[in-house]
Amino acid sequence: MFESLSERLESAFKQIKGEGRITELNVAATVKDIRRALVDADVNYKIAKEFTDRIKDKAMGEKVLTAVSPGQLMVKIVKDELVELMGGTESELQSKGNPAVILIAGLQGSGKTTFSGKLANYLKTKKGLSPLLVAADIYRPAAIDQLKVLGGQIGVDVFSEPDNKDAVDIARKAVIQARSLNKNVVIIDTAGRLAIDEAMMTEVANVKSAVNPNEILFVVDSMTGQDAVNTAKAFNDRLNFSGVVLTKLDGDTRGGAALSIKYTVEKPIKFVSSGEKLDTLDVFYPERMAQRILG
Ligand code: GDP
Repeated sequence: MFESLSERLESAFKQIKGEGRITELNVAATVKDIRRALVDADVNYKIAKEFTDRIKDKAMGEKVLTAVSPGQLMVKIVKDELVELMGGTESELQSKGNPAVILIAGLQGSGKTTFSGKLANYLKTKKGLSPLLVAADIYRPAAIDQLKVLGGQIGVDVFSEPDNKDAVDIARKAVIQARSLNKNVVIIDTAGRLAIDEAMMTEVANVKSAVNPNEILFVVDSMTGQDAVNTAKAFNDRLNFSGVVLTKLDGDTRGGAALSIKYTVEKPIKFVSSGEKLDTLDVFYPERMAQRILG
């Protein structure tokens, strides 16, 4: 994950690590390399520029500190800024309710259905909750089957009405069903399209109004770089979602989505998904991610 970014940052620090003190010149050179590394990792130029301007200011502001070497100081400043850029601390999922309702939205192929299964598994095994999965994709019958298979694998019930073409009605009934089955969290997998589409947005927005979710999680394929960020913006403008899920971090992801989404939509990344297996879901910790990036 993020190999190329990690390598580029490592080489950006190389020169300053050999210097005896922080100077305007060596900071400027390091910062320039960092900015290029970020842009090449698909971070939007404006974000990369602001990021490196902050690093420059901090480094120059701390140049009197002689206790640490310039290299150590730069790595520390960059790490702190990476953590901030990705949201600071982790953001907890709101899963308390009677039942709690979690709405899953995103484009088709982003990994919504897989994530819904993973989240149900996580809430069941790690949080001791009793989830109900809801198949509200009324356009792709295969999505209903896919969710049923996932539910079967983790021992979680799946609510579906294959002949019902009204996603709002399905979602409402699912919440009522959950109550009567004593389920305390409902995970609604909504329909996605290949591209942003007004009908899809209206449908998800209508489901949102009908069931008043505790969380709306926007699922996005991290391999799609700046597109991921643009899609996030479009979904957030319409749905005002509560958190982001980055999927396919096991692939050849450059890092742009992870680094830019929080800045762009001001919503935290809550989970990262890194595989097709159901236990490959992790809570997103900005600190750990920054550490991984810096190696
Ligand atoms: P949906 O259309 O948004 O519901 O997407 P799916 O859940 O059907 O996922 C689309 C494809 O991506 C499937 O082949 C999944 O197995 C795969 N997939 C989902 N999440 C991940 C992930 O984190 N890593 C990898 N490698 N594949 C994933």
